Amino acid sequence: MVQAEDSRIRLAFPELGDAELDAVRAVFASGTLTMGPKVEELEGLVAAACGVEDAVAVSNGTAALHLAVLALGIGPGDEVIVPAYTFPATANAVRLAGATPVLVDVDPATFNLDVGRVYDAVTPRTKAVLAVHLFGRPLDWEALQSAVPPEVTLLEDAAGALGARWRGMPCGGLGAAGCLSFHPRKLVTTGEGGAVTTNDAVLAEAVRRLRHHGIEGTDIAEPSTNYRLADILCAVGIPQLRRLDELLAERTRVAAGYTERLRDLVEVPSADDGDAHGWQAYVIRLDRRVEAMETLRAEGIEVQIGTYALHHLSAYRDQGPFPGADEAFERALALPLHSRLTDADLDRVAEGVRRFA
Ligand SMILES: *Cc1c(COP(=O)(O)O)cnc(C)c1O
Repeated sequence: MVQAEDSRIRLAFPELGDAELDAVRAVFASGTLTMGPKVEELEGLVAAACGVEDAVAVSNGTAALHLAVLALGIGPGDEVIVPAYTFPATANAVRLAGATPVLVDVDPATFNLDVGRVYDAVTPRTKAVLAVHLFGRPLDWEALQSAVPPEVTLLEDAAGALGARWRGMPCGGLGAAGCLSFHPRKLVTTGEGGAVTTNDAVLAEAVRRLRHHGIEGTDIAEPSTNYRLADILCAVGIPQLRRLDELLAERTRVAAGYTERLRDLVEVPSADDGDAHGWQAYVIRLDRRVEAMETLRAEGIEVQIGTYALHHLSAYRDQGPFPGADEAFERALALPLHSRLTDADLDRVAEGVRRFA
């Protein structure tokens, strides 16, 4: 059954309006399209949202991950622990830096790292854990801290966790550095964009240098690439960061609407007590996921897989088995999540899901 275009329920829909258009117009009028004042303005708002001293805007979340790893001096011979179930950029960034991503299984109930297994994966070569708050669900940071020796650096892939809080503290401000994404499926979007957050001034300076060819004053000691974020795109993000609480409240409303309708039918996502979920995605778990995804899509409801089990990708096939990641991959279904969803939309999605419960 093919539905008319206007009855399609979109997976994501960015929150862009007049405020963003006005901000872009102001950049056009200024004539400064990159490396101008909007970059710093965005960085200030990101740092404040994450409760850190510094934020460095970069061209996307993957660039943020890549630069955070590089800025720590992690490279060939080093190991970085990453979850086996995550967006592949988490592991790719480690590989791109020349280091070895060591996959660790996840708990399918939370979609996050199984912290007990992190402890077992630490070796003398382990330099860092790149921990993910997957879909915006805060990882139990204290449990992670106690699972690794103090010389192992804790990094956050907080690409989908802007606005999320672990025990009241903002995600993106918990580790030595946090990596954010402003992709259109995230809470705040610039189309493409990202940032590295940190309280470490030396690390922030290294990220700044590495996003800009490695230029330091008039010299380049270590050649790097161009990972800058244009002022035009920073301008798009600034009004959204100013109303971050409002944006998160809207997604929290939709998530609560789904939970109310679905909690007795399938496994629904939540955060630990005392934490605030960032709702980058609303991902349920059900047995007949493949069938449900095909059917809902055919009915004009844009559902999606959760994310990837990395050990099934050619690049990471040498590791495993990871039964937690397998279960997460096979059973996860991301439902449409954005502020335009009405109660009628939620009813329609829930009705669709109910048939596969
Ligand atoms: C979105 C996302 C990324 C990648 O961000 P991009 O801006 O698309 O490069 C990395 N990790 C996680 C967990 C993400 O959700």
